[in-house]
Amino acid sequence: MTTAILTLNAGSSSLKLGLFDGDRVLASGLVDRIGGDGVMRLNGANNALPQPTDADFSSHQAALTAALITLDAAFPGLTITAVGHRVVHGGPDFTAPAVVTPTVLAKLEGYAPFAPLHQSHNLAGIRAAITAFPQAVQVACFDTAFHRNQPWENDTYALPRSYYDKGVRRYGFHGLSYQFIAGELARTHPDLAAGRVIVAHLGNGASMCAMQGGRGIASTMGFSALDGLAMGTRVGQIDPGVLLYLMEQEGMGAAAISDLLYRQSGLLGLSGISNDMRGLEASDDPQAAQAIGYFCARIQREIGSLAAALGGLDALVFTGGIGENSARIRAQVCDGMRWIGIALDASQRDGVISTKDSPVIVIVIATNEEQVIARACALTIGTP
Ligand code: ADP
Repeated sequence: MTTAILTLNAGSSSLKLGLFDGDRVLASGLVDRIGGDGVMRLNGANNALPQPTDADFSSHQAALTAALITLDAAFPGLTITAVGHRVVHGGPDFTAPAVVTPTVLAKLEGYAPFAPLHQSHNLAGIRAAITAFPQAVQVACFDTAFHRNQPWENDTYALPRSYYDKGVRRYGFHGLSYQFIAGELARTHPDLAAGRVIVAHLGNGASMCAMQGGRGIASTMGFSALDGLAMGTRVGQIDPGVLLYLMEQEGMGAAAISDLLYRQSGLLGLSGISNDMRGLEASDDPQAAQAIGYFCARIQREIGSLAAALGGLDALVFTGGIGENSARIRAQVCDGMRWIGIALDASQRDGVISTKDSPVIVIVIATNEEQVIARACALTIGTP
């Protein structure tokens, strides 16, 4: 019999899965295009797992059932003791992972208006898992929780106070990634982890977090996952006056503005070519270079802002698909940052990539949000 912890990350049309025995990954992968012409890709530690024929991918529930059939076949006698869920929004209250009870679920449903594009899908994943594993402990792990120790001035907007009380706050996101990085840094560079660190999580979604002694004190993302850096298709920082202009002069409604800001902007909007950094790096179109230039310039400005919040800077960490893999973006971000103490050793590709005498240590660390979720589950059910 194999006992294991399952991690789930349910998006609008996808379900990412991880099967863990402690920190060991037994299997991982995803079901994509749920509700359409669904496709499943699951891998064991060393091999691709066979895909079921004629599987039903019409809903998250059906996709999870199909994935379980494959996992059951690969791991005979599989018993799932806990299911850990990535949940984008834990509102003002959840500062740590929570066991899902009917009360917790109702509270999380109440946060759906804060994250209309994500929360309901995350909760669909939880419901599917409760049905599939009625005996397992369900644990919700929040992307906002890591940021809940932000000082008030970094947690609020200068709106009338009643809005803060109603939940209009700077929540910050990517918290599971930041938690992983904080843990890795504490393990590998405890001296730096105790100091002032900026982590740049640069993926299709991108944000940065200022950490003091391993705790988040400021983030580039705020009320929604739109603010801060330019992303694959998201706008990042924008003057709210632009939104008023679009409403008043161009007659755009909430749905059209949401589509513009979430799906048509960022690298895609600026380049007119792609939301994908690899595609832009491969292009010789000047608009691709401009989009990359904007992406990097905003990161540089936010480094300045977060360093001011920290009162200085000891380390800069790059993570996420772009941060981990693109030496070009890292070099372009660090170029011209000597004033703050960043000196990059361009010959280095991983680990510490700053020069020996760089006052700020620059490090590449691969993130692992699933492992954070699996560890939270293990802690909850009391296994080491
Ligand atoms: P998500 O936010 O969806 O988790 P990822 O962290 O997987 O995103 O990052 C996806 C981004 O990373 C894409 O823009 C992709 O082009 C970029 N990326 C991945 N590998 C490389 C690479 N070798 N060079 C440049 N960009 C890369």
